[in-house]
Amino acid sequence: MLPRDAVLLQIVRDHGTPCFVYFVDQLSERIAHLRGAFGGRFALSYAVKSNPNPGLLRWLQGRVDGLDVSSGGEVIRARAAGWPGAKLSFTGPAKTAEELRTAIDNDVAEIILESVDEARVLNEICVQAKKTQGALIRIAPKKVPRGFGVSMSGTATQFGIDEEDIDGAIAEIQALPGIELRGLHIYSGTQCLRPEAIAENYEIFIDLFRRVCGTHRLQPRRLIFGSGIGIPYYENDAPVDLAAVAARVNPLLDELVCELGNPQLVLETGRYLVGEAGVYLTRVIRKKSSRGAEICICDGGMNHHLGAAGHLGTVLFRNYRMFRLGAAGDSAPRPYNLVGPLCTTIDSFGRQVKLPETNAGDIIGIECSGAYGVTASPIHFISHPPPRELIVETVDGALRVDDASMFRAPGGG
Ligand SMILES: *Cc1c(COP(=O)(O)O)cnc(C)c1O
Repeated sequence: MLPRDAVLLQIVRDHGTPCFVYFVDQLSERIAHLRGAFGGRFALSYAVKSNPNPGLLRWLQGRVDGLDVSSGGEVIRARAAGWPGAKLSFTGPAKTAEELRTAIDNDVAEIILESVDEARVLNEICVQAKKTQGALIRIAPKKVPRGFGVSMSGTATQFGIDEEDIDGAIAEIQALPGIELRGLHIYSGTQCLRPEAIAENYEIFIDLFRRVCGTHRLQPRRLIFGSGIGIPYYENDAPVDLAAVAARVNPLLDELVCELGNPQLVLETGRYLVGEAGVYLTRVIRKKSSRGAEICICDGGMNHHLGAAGHLGTVLFRNYRMFRLGAAGDSAPRPYNLVGPLCTTIDSFGRQVKLPETNAGDIIGIECSGAYGVTASPIHFISHPPPRELIVETVDGALRVDDASMFRAPGGG
């Protein structure tokens, strides 16, 4: 049996299913890999929305340089996990005055302004409170290269200030007395596996940063790059060749830093850090043969893992990479349809998935489940219990498993 399978089986015995398991040792490797590839040119910021588990947020302290939060609630979560406001940035297209106040009260270092209107609201709050708030401006570039699974720019978008409108916007924001403009931010696309496209996208960022800073005589303290780096969710996906990205952009980053007076460069990423460190486990409750198909009906599905069910922004459904726990060397694989417990046809996360013989009681594992899992899913729909969340870490040479579950079942079970 694979060593990881042994750990997962023990977790299932101790904590039951369904559950998410996060292997933070893998996260450590990922962080080191990112820092190494770019030769320390980038500070690392973790996008909390990709997985706001409090245990993870605590663990990330001292391991990444900052957190990006996307709501007032995430400000509170980050602070509760022990992060100082000084290490937080706050993005989001619909920040309310109340959320902005929450950020200011928690000493959030920088608000990422997504519109001039937001800047005016923030300014008013700051002037009233006799405070100055650090801010960065999010730019929405005209172009996002092909190859990004999700694109947030290049067409009409609620995110950031359009590149075409940036000059007027910056002039207006620079004149607001309550705001200290400290830099620029771009996050225009994500889930890209092609190194050339990722590098080309950073080149677009770099050109824009350079042009905007030049035009407005801005000496930025910080420039944030939304990483866009994807992970291999599906069978034939290859992991991103970071060395290839770095080979192309590292020299450009050096020029940029030199030209703009040594700003801090930040790489902001969620899924690339945590996605592959997570596994989702669900148990087959019942097996059914129906019109030539073998269907495994499981104790968790779309309600915990909207992405694996194909409802988190994908156009064509593809199976996540999956395995049957403890099945090494078993019978020849055969195709199964895998569905969750919900009384709706859209709760289906595997079509003709090839697994060794699988029966009621067996456990199915879904890879790449560390990001956009439990909090990105409709966990309350049909009142099934929420998943447990376990953090696995090597401490003094031994594996430690911590129950870090965010949610409890109705009735507290
Ligand atoms: C969601 C988000 C990210 C992280 O995206 P991933 O695809 O998980 O890397 C980064 N920056 C901002 C502003 C975001 O909203």
